[in-house]
Amino acid sequence: MRRRAIGKRRWLKPAHDRQNVLALLRSPGWPATTTTKKMSAPFTGGCGCGAIRYQVTAEPIVMFNCHCRDCQRATGTSFSAVVYVPAKAFKITKGSPRYYQTSSESGGHNKRGFCADCGSRLFGGISDQGHGINAASLDDPTLFKPQMHIWTADAQPWDHMDPDLPKFEKYAPQ
Ligand SMILES: [Zn+2]
Ligand SMILES: [Zn+2]
Repeated sequence: MRRRAIGKRRWLKPAHDRQNVLALLRSPGWPATTTTKKMSAPFTGGCGCGAIRYQVTAEPIVMFNCHCRDCQRATGTSFSAVVYVPAKAFKITKGSPRYYQTSSESGGHNKRGFCADCGSRLFGGISDQGHGINAASLDDPTLFKPQMHIWTADAQPWDHMDPDLPKFEKYAPQ
């Protein structure tokens, strides 16, 4: 059933904007363990060629895997592994990412960033409130502890998800 729905939803353009993340946090499926994550600030990361570096000086707000089609296209694989941090705690310390936007089903746009030199995908869901970081760009990617899967309606049949994590067809219910 889910796979039949993929075609119908192909044109939808989701985003990890502020409203969506707040919706995630309000979700009844949100596990009580979300505040126990141990990703101590500050932490750093960057692109594959070293042109772009960043630093984060606060704990993440939320970490999740997004399986939407925009994230699939942006990453070239089945989902984005996202570390969503407070915007005020995020700083580019070297270089200038290139940005582009995809429109969002929930309204507005999803601002996404990458390295124009090496093509590494780095960021998404950038707003005044928060800043999404692609987990593999972290200097220590093992810090990433996903708390949920979202946009499973677009998930690929060759993808595999953690059976123990909450899953939402699109965004978490409001
Ligand atoms: Zn680069
Ligand atoms: Zn996505």
